[in-house]
Amino acid sequence: MESVGKFEFNRKNLIGHGAFAIVFKGRHKEKRDWEVAIKCINKKNLAKSQSLLGKEIKILKELKHDNIVRLLDYQEMGGSVYLVMEYCNGGDLSEYLHSKGALSEDTIRAFLQQIAQAMKVLQSKGILHRDLKPQNILLCHPEGRRSSSINTSIKIADFGFARHLQTNTMAATLCGSPMYMAPEVIMSQNYDAKADLWSIGTIVYQCLTGKAPFHYKE
Ligand code: ATP
Repeated sequence: MESVGKFEFNRKNLIGHGAFAIVFKGRHKEKRDWEVAIKCINKKNLAKSQSLLGKEIKILKELKHDNIVRLLDYQEMGGSVYLVMEYCNGGDLSEYLHSKGALSEDTIRAFLQQIAQAMKVLQSKGILHRDLKPQNILLCHPEGRRSSSINTSIKIADFGFARHLQTNTMAATLCGSPMYMAPEVIMSQNYDAKADLWSIGTIVYQCLTGKAPFHYKE
């Protein structure tokens, strides 16, 4: 077991990985049924100015909302930073869409209401996401059961992180999913909260039709 503050994880318990991070399932060292997700990011992938990241982590740790993945702890060890997050047991929206294809309007309404609640809180604190996509929208089923989508809660992960990545890492992230990014973000122009709204529009389109509205050609 590897230790991250009050939490621990085993590298065998891999949940998933993205362009710049690996996510493991972990738990609280004493309250062992308290499951968490521990995201490990190689420092090489982060931009030099980490004081800004430190400040933002403080704000993110204070964010407590049902529709935002709780950041429980942040630690730097060796060449990596570790983010300890609330564990979401239902996978991400990208996997969910993959298994279901298009979703019903009732389900989309229930999901969108929750996304809107999260956005409202974030907007009031001046936080932009910048990289909203189905992979960053996590699902939680009550008591671990696969219940109806109406009971499923939606939680947004990875707030504000995109701008702390190194330019080349950001480029790799872009290669993975520019389909959901507003044009002004892709072109590194000035952008504001409307950029997140663009991404939500593309996600809703995909939920309705089963296909993303824009595609990426290598
Ligand atoms: P990228 O890093 O390129 O933006 P990503 O968002 O898919 O892509 P990660 O944030 O590294 O990558 O997460 C990888 C996967 O781990 C997610 O798609 C999700 O399925 C899973 N995951 C992330 N956070 C949690 C969490 N808090 N609870 C449960 N699963 C999670």
